Amino acid sequence: MPIDPTLPYDDDNIFAKILRGEIPSNKVYEDDWAFAFEDINPQAEVHTLVIPKGQYVSWDDFSAKATAEEIAGFVRAVGEVARMKGLVEHGYRMMANIGAHGGQEVPHLHVHIFGGHPLGPMIA
Ligand code: 5GP
Repeated sequence: MPIDPTLPYDDDNIFAKILRGEIPSNKVYEDDWAFAFEDINPQAEVHTLVIPKGQYVSWDDFSAKATAEEIAGFVRAVGEVARMKGLVEHGYRMMANIGAHGGQEVPHLHVHIFGGHPLGPMIA
């Protein structure tokens, strides 16, 4: 069920619990700004999620309210995760779903990283 992006941040969402270590995840990377873990239902050979440590519902929320330091840290972390997963040589796809029309299910900003094989054209 896609989220309502106008709702305030819900501290009980599943990714907030993963960030706090209350539920397990297959951690890939962590720094001061971001945490990355494997998607539970992978849609490609590599399907990793990168989330900011700050409490942001979506890219809209993040891009409007995060500090320049948080934004830089998060963007760098996404690139770092792709490098760690060995995706740079052949390329990869990064994607963020935003709100109801974007099909966002979890109300904590997350960037999907897909790769490991040719992904084909982007289907809307
Ligand atoms: P969205 O549709 O919000 O962009 O993507 C949510 C993603 O989170 C989906 O790809 C889904 O498989 C993944 N996901 C949902 N719940 C969990 C969970 O508890 N653990 C992990 N690792 N991934 C999850």
